[in-house]
Amino acid sequence: MKFIGAHVSASGGLENAAIRAAQLDATAFALFTKNQRQWRAAPLTPEIISRFRAACEKYGYHSSQILPHDSYLINLGHPVEDALAKSREAFIDEMDRCQQLGLTLLNFHPGSHLKQISEDECLARIAQSINIALDKTRGVTAVIENTAGQGSNLGFRFEQLAAIIEGVEDKSRVGVCIDTCHAFAAGYDLRSAEACEKTFIEFERIVGFEYLRAMHLNDAKSAFGSRVDRHNSLGAGNIGYDAFRWIMRDSRFDGIPLILETTNPDIWAEEIAWLKAQQMQEVAA
Ligand SMILES: [Zn+2]
Ligand SMILES: [Zn+2]
Repeated sequence: MKFIGAHVSASGGLENAAIRAAQLDATAFALFTKNQRQWRAAPLTPEIISRFRAACEKYGYHSSQILPHDSYLINLGHPVEDALAKSREAFIDEMDRCQQLGLTLLNFHPGSHLKQISEDECLARIAQSINIALDKTRGVTAVIENTAGQGSNLGFRFEQLAAIIEGVEDKSRVGVCIDTCHAFAAGYDLRSAEACEKTFIEFERIVGFEYLRAMHLNDAKSAFGSRVDRHNSLGAGNIGYDAFRWIMRDSRFDGIPLILETTNPDIWAEEIAWLKAQQMQEVAA
């Protein structure tokens, strides 16, 4: 069973994310549980939590279908101690919010060395940040997103994701989310079924499908291997439809949130319907 949705707005109340996802006929959704451009947020109240949980129940969203994303400000590999501490504190708060909402995944960007420490040192800091957060929370899996490798962002190579996982003590609560646009921009070809097969053989060899907890389905405005992060609507970018059709027909992507972060929310309902239809054709074939 594929869980397909989009990163929807939670404006006006977290429960609105579930309502908006239902309006798209989505079977999954992503959301920010607080403003993604601010450090602090008011704590969740019992009323906010119960309204969110009630909406998820009403529209049939289980925690395995929901992929919260953390704030863009957080850098778990920050080279400067004070800033690292601030990021770690904010990340624990994000994990804690997920736990309170009954959510089991938290999607985040690994971190950046800002050209001040080595890649290895940065990856070690990220792993240690995850260890600290896992130690202070229960039931939430830290889901590392691969990046396009823009600037000094790490996590653009599968080896870097594997190195972070290697440093995490509780392997049962760490996983990865593969963003197709980011992978393509980082130099993993997805332009044909054969290219997808090859890329995910490499993923299996280096990271392993047992760690795959979510996908971001985005076409790329950026060029192959450019390390530039620019999303596009499905079929409208440099990846093309084949990759998304291939993913929908492969059972290794079952049971995890498959989330659109494509650039035109007006066609999300169509994109979701198209993805679902690719899956149906597999059953019929
Ligand atoms: Zn992201
Ligand atoms: Zn993404």
